[in-house]
Amino acid sequence: MKTKFFPKNKIFIVAIALLAANIAFSQKIERPKLVVGIVIDQMRWDYLYKFYENYGNDGFKRLLNNGFSCENTMLNYIPTYTAVGHASIYTGSVPSINGIVSNKLINQKTGNIEECVFDNSDTVKAIGINKDAEIGKRSPKNLQTTTITDELKLANPLSKVIGVALKDRAAILPAGHAADAAYWFEDSLGQWLTSTYYMKKESKWLQDFNKENTLKKILNSNEGNRITLKMAQTIIEKEDFGKDYITDFLAVSFSSPDYIGHNFSIDSEQMKNCYLNLDSVLSEFLKFLDKNVGKNNYLLFLTADHACAHNAKFLQNQKINSDIFDDVKILKTLNDSLKTIFGIDNIVKSLENYQVNFNYPNIKKIPHDELIAECIKFLENLPSVLYAVEQKKAAQAAIPQAVKECIINGYNRELSGEIQIIVKPAYYHGSDYYGSTHGTWYPYDSHIPLIFYGWKIKKGTTNREVYITDIAPTLAALLKIQMPNGCIGKPIFGKVEMINE
Ligand code: ZN
Ligand code: ZN
Repeated sequence: MKTKFFPKNKIFIVAIALLAANIAFSQKIERPKLVVGIVIDQMRWDYLYKFYENYGNDGFKRLLNNGFSCENTMLNYIPTYTAVGHASIYTGSVPSINGIVSNKLINQKTGNIEECVFDNSDTVKAIGINKDAEIGKRSPKNLQTTTITDELKLANPLSKVIGVALKDRAAILPAGHAADAAYWFEDSLGQWLTSTYYMKKESKWLQDFNKENTLKKILNSNEGNRITLKMAQTIIEKEDFGKDYITDFLAVSFSSPDYIGHNFSIDSEQMKNCYLNLDSVLSEFLKFLDKNVGKNNYLLFLTADHACAHNAKFLQNQKINSDIFDDVKILKTLNDSLKTIFGIDNIVKSLENYQVNFNYPNIKKIPHDELIAECIKFLENLPSVLYAVEQKKAAQAAIPQAVKECIINGYNRELSGEIQIIVKPAYYHGSDYYGSTHGTWYPYDSHIPLIFYGWKIKKGTTNREVYITDIAPTLAALLKIQMPNGCIGKPIFGKVEMINE
């Protein structure tokens, strides 16, 4: 009987399958063809308005006037450094959980210091150059949680994901673990690199690009913005990004503003020129995306990894309290003071990340509570220090809740020093009065721009406080994919407020 009816049944099954496929097709979930994440290294929120009247109509203004701007987006951890910011944007998480506690990771047990994207495994090597393989030993292996870009890959492995930035950490951390590639720039060679973590051999287009675009020592100039744009455009073209309805993700970070801020200070003419240059780069990029992906086919967000302080001398000239926290000098006097108490040299290894990093082999015989108490007493007597807090007891410390939360979110047992130093407002680490820097919890370091633009995004603004960790879950909600696995943020908006249906 079965054999006799099989052909007829087969036709029936095929018909049902076709019908199901048709229904599935007609109810396809709408997603953008491409997501473009733009991080501007060291961009303060107020730069949107400080230079507004000098911007053209098609760069920052186009985003502000047509996108959704979250005007009070804050970093909710310390220290406010590049690697930490990029990791938080893309993981929706904080150093305590994602393990990226600084640009350099200090293994507290061994005292070893390592670049956060350094990978010492034998299999990871530079691609594109043979000269110095050490600079290509890079991967996201120290990032302990998934990124929104990883989650896109997990939702559909056919989605393509690439990260690009002059700085290695700003390309690698956003692209996540499952990325197709991350490209960063080796300034001494004027070449874009990647590593064998991502691929066996470099693509032909990268070879050609490197041959045609050799720009050495460009980190402190506006050339950096333009070469990053050129590389981003080339990736979109050569890797067929945004060509079909499987969402791709390009994570771009512009590193030059940070180099310029550190070298010339944020109130310099160079900084202003950098943002006007960035404005024209942005306008060119948006036009390119309109043409190559289509106006309503891409979802874009623009944000920053941290902001930056004014130069101390500049503030002093305005009669505003500000000065240097000279960590090198303070380390020496702290160790001298601890030696008179405990009779041991070099008890503290460094004050890196505004934290007390102990030299563990040297302190085995010292009662630990006494040592912590003496360090805190010494530090709180300094004119530059507001609080010195034992990390494990931060929740009980008599300090404002907002500061407490930043300390707790930034503290990772294995990688952070045991005492957190909170310098006074407008104090920052350094040994001279040159340039500007960042790293503290204060609004000048932690208030960043955040604008969503493009695919289904409604024009608008909000002054409600949101956090850097809310970016990834907002993208997850828009893309209808799972949020990253260490995510503590919340989607910023309900659909009604933010999206055109
Ligand atoms: Zn940065
Ligand atoms: Zn910086």
